[in-house]
Formats: sequence, C-alpha cells, structure tokens
Amino acid sequence: MDDCLFCKIVAGTIPSRKAYEDDEVLAFYDIDPQAPSHILVIPKRHIQSADALLPEDGTTVMAMFAAAQRVAKESGINKSGYRIVTNIGEDAGQSVPHMHLHVLGGRSLQWPPG
Ligand code: 5GP
Ligand code: ZN
Repeated sequence: MDDCLFCKIVAGTIPSRKAYEDDEVLAFYDIDPQAPSHILVIPKRHIQSADALLPEDGTTVMAMFAAAQRVAKESGINKSGYRIVTNIGEDAGQSVPHMHLHVLGGRSLQWPPG
C-alpha cells in the first residue's frame, strides 16, 4: 500500500534496524522502545490489523509468531518471559494501520495494561 509507513519500511524507502527477515515477515526495532527489548514483527504484505485477518492468512500469522519466538530468543528474553501485543483500532491505540506484533521484554511488565 503506497501511503503506509510499514509498507515503506518493507520496501526500504524508510530505514529500519532489522532484527529478522524472511519471505513473509520483517522484524525491526521499535523507534520508541517501551522496554529494554522492543521489536516489531510485521507481515510484508499489507494487512490493516489482526481484525482483518482471513483464514487464508494462516501461514503469514504462523510466520509472524515464529519470527517473534526467534527474535525473543536472540534478544535473550525467552527464558525470563516476554509479551506479544497487537493493538487493533483507536481504543487500543493502534497508531500504524499495518498489523504488527510488539515483542516486549527485558523487564517485569505490568498487568493489566493501561
Ligand atoms: P501501535 O501504536 O500502532 O501499536 O504501534 C506502532 C509502533 O510503531 C509504535 O511503538 C511506534 O514507536 C513504532 N513506530 C512508529 N514509526 C516508526 C518508525 O518509523 N520506525 C520504527 N522502527 N518504529 C516506528
Ligand atoms: Zn502497510
């Protein structure tokens, strides 16, 4: 999608610090980290949010979670624990309308979220 920040990151027209990449997904460091480790995992194909997922997106969704596992391990947070968050729409505070998993860890995370 032309006017999408994360599609531009996938295309390389906006730079990012990559953590992992394969045919389906890109993982990169959040520009405004909310934890010592904060990586975003996105599908390369534009999907607005988890609320727009279809049954045929199953391979992409698995690729996103596999990438999240991988970057968590590589960041050394898989043993201590981490959180995967995906915000959907206005009330959840989704600011970029291209689906993404936040992979957060490296500190004790509060629950419930604000
Ligand atoms: P949301 O608020 O939609 O759940 O998450 C969007 C995330 O994207 C935020 O955590 C924000 O810091 C991050 N972000 C926004 N613009 C950029 C950017 O240009 N580069 C990177 N690496 N992260 C971004
Ligand atoms: Zn997009």
